[in-house]
Amino acid sequence: MARRVVLKISGEALASSASDQTIDATVVDFLASEIAAATESGELQLAMVVGGGNIWRGATGELAGMDRANSDIMGMLGTVINSLALQDAIENHGRQCRVMSALNMDQVAEPYIRRRAVRHLEKGRVVIFAAGMGNPYFTTDTPAAQRAAEVEAELVLKGTHGGVDGVYTADPKKDPNATKYDVVSFDEAIQKELRVMDLTAITFCKDNGLPIRVFDLMAPGNLRRALAGEAVGTLVR
Ligand code: UDP
Repeated sequence: MARRVVLKISGEALASSASDQTIDATVVDFLASEIAAATESGELQLAMVVGGGNIWRGATGELAGMDRANSDIMGMLGTVINSLALQDAIENHGRQCRVMSALNMDQVAEPYIRRRAVRHLEKGRVVIFAAGMGNPYFTTDTPAAQRAAEVEAELVLKGTHGGVDGVYTADPKKDPNATKYDVVSFDEAIQKELRVMDLTAITFCKDNGLPIRVFDLMAPGNLRRALAGEAVGTLVR
């Protein structure tokens, strides 16, 4: 059976500080070209979750006095916008791609149905899970882990975009003595609150025996290497 993997990227990975754009078409095109190259052999089944942080985060609205659940729905809608941008770019690179939304929006995306998602993956289509899990009070890290378990993926890939290429003992941008882990246990990541994914997502992965590889998404060729099982970044297991 082909390897099945869920790739989580943050919404901010689609933005650009260079152009000040919420969604930078050049960056999205780069990501799509990386995805197309990495899935070229057909030996890999790729599902994705893209966050919405470049557009809206639920916590931001809550801080401003907004109802949290309402604010989280705005965040989930942001992930749909990002998913559609990625879908467009991935298809421009010659890969079939389906967006499946956890919130019903029939004119825009397919509803998330597990069996249908698995079928798309078996046919070699890239599947993007949009609108998180459809529930407020989560970030998109947890749906990435939960969907990975649901479609029986063997790995969660967390692609970073801020220049940090794995999990470090401390924030490498602030602490010059920080060192990178090649491998770190779930327990250590949780106990030391290492910046891997949200605690809820890490705990979920731990409970379900789902390893996470954290790697630099923006380095050309890195996605292909990570998907091929090479030891890029840090493996959390
Ligand atoms: N969100 C949610 N439920 C989910 C997934 C996401 O309520 O299952 C909301 C939440 O408000 C979150 C926002 O969508 O802040 C955007 O997702 P996230 O913060 O994970 O984006 P990222 O930081 O990865 O770009």
